[in-house]
Amino acid sequence: MLNKVAIVGGGIGGLTAALALLRHGIDVEVYEQAPELKELGAGLQISANGTRVLYALGLGSAIERVGVVVAGKEIRLWNSGQTWKLFDLGAVSVERYGFPYMMFHRGDLHGALVEAIAREKSGTLHLDHKCTGVAQSADSVRIEFDNGEIAHAPIVIGADGVQSKIRTILFGADRPEFTGIVAWRGLVPREKVPPGVKMDVGTNWIGPGAHVVHYPVRGGALLNFVGLLERDDWRVESWTVRGTIDEFANDFRGWHADVQAMIRCVDIPYKWALFARPPMPRWSKGRVTLLGDACHSMLPMLAQGAVMALEDGFVLARCLKTDTADPVAALARYEAARRERANKVVQGSAENGKRFHNPELAHAAGADAYVNREWREEKVKQRYEWLFTYDATSVAI
Ligand SMILES: Cc1cc2nc3c(=O)[nH]c(=O)nc-3n(C[C@H](O)[C@H](O)[C@H](O)COP(=O)(O)OP(=O)(O)OC[C@H]3O[C@@H](n4cnc5c(N)ncnc54)[C@H](O)[C@@H]3O)c2cc1C
Repeated sequence: MLNKVAIVGGGIGGLTAALALLRHGIDVEVYEQAPELKELGAGLQISANGTRVLYALGLGSAIERVGVVVAGKEIRLWNSGQTWKLFDLGAVSVERYGFPYMMFHRGDLHGALVEAIAREKSGTLHLDHKCTGVAQSADSVRIEFDNGEIAHAPIVIGADGVQSKIRTILFGADRPEFTGIVAWRGLVPREKVPPGVKMDVGTNWIGPGAHVVHYPVRGGALLNFVGLLERDDWRVESWTVRGTIDEFANDFRGWHADVQAMIRCVDIPYKWALFARPPMPRWSKGRVTLLGDACHSMLPMLAQGAVMALEDGFVLARCLKTDTADPVAALARYEAARRERANKVVQGSAENGKRFHNPELAHAAGADAYVNREWREEKVKQRYEWLFTYDATSVAI
């Protein structure tokens, strides 16, 4: 019988799996490399297929306190600011998919998961535990940490993100390919947001070779601002590397005055080079499996990376609960249930990137025709409906 699961990585995916397992009565330890829980200044858009998981975990009131439900999403043209509606959210998302589309400060969503886990079982999260090795025998996995400690568990989940150590140990070093896109990230205090920018919707500014996404977080006190552009001279994949406001503004010179004004008001500008990894044919080996970015990192153009980590964590916990007598078989069933969908999202994200940066957007007339063609209602439905209707709580496993 499965009596314990060890999770390496305390990000959104690792904590979701941990909470779901604890709720099923399976004991969990989470090992996180960070010495303290720091707020990484970035937002997360969580569509209905992700909030469904959060509500199923009993986090409804916690997320309603910190998240923002926007009325919808709009598209704006990079230089003129011309605006088109992308889709309605708010009550429409709840009506269509049963759950809201919500915007979060990453620290707020992470905090809600940390608190719920602590209430379920205090001491689950072990900070300052950077995993350096795993080795498995017939019935157990040994996990080594850089602080000299060693742990054992019958099942290990590698939820250690895009540069996963566990993935490397299981399947060897990967070969990430630089996509030629750099993402700038930052937060703008509400009082500094230009009057022309709406705080009750999510906005995608699109232009040739670049796009900007912004939306309210932390109950509307902050605007999360992300600028992505094609740029070849920066290749560091990191949550914490800082750039300068001047460099950020220069990357978006010629863009609408509102975009420039928001860049000037960003608190700390972080930059992250986006890398692509080919789909993995397998996620598990014996008693060890992967979830989230560790096995299917993706470009952020569909805003689904963290949502997929939520779905993975929930489905994996369901599989382990159903098959406590044979947890290795449970890992195989988890993989079979999740791999095709996750890989399809990776592909869809890359395609959306090309759509957002199309050269036809350079001039107003071409842009109008392009947006009306590419964001026609049926096309939008085709791109998003299968994503938002997925139900991790009942999908066949
Ligand atoms: C610019 C940008 C915008 C995005 N916007 C969205 C969005 O709007 N919506 C959305 O759904 N997704 C979005 N994403 C994607 C999302 O951030 C990721 O997909 C998500 O964070 C993946 O969660 P995870 O738990 O798999 O990994 P992570 O969040 O990366 O967590 C991994 C954890 O493992 C820890 N760790 C790493 N190595 C070790 C080790 N050796 N030992 C112990 N611990 C370790 C790390 O410290 C970290 O805490 C965006 C990404 C980017 C870059």
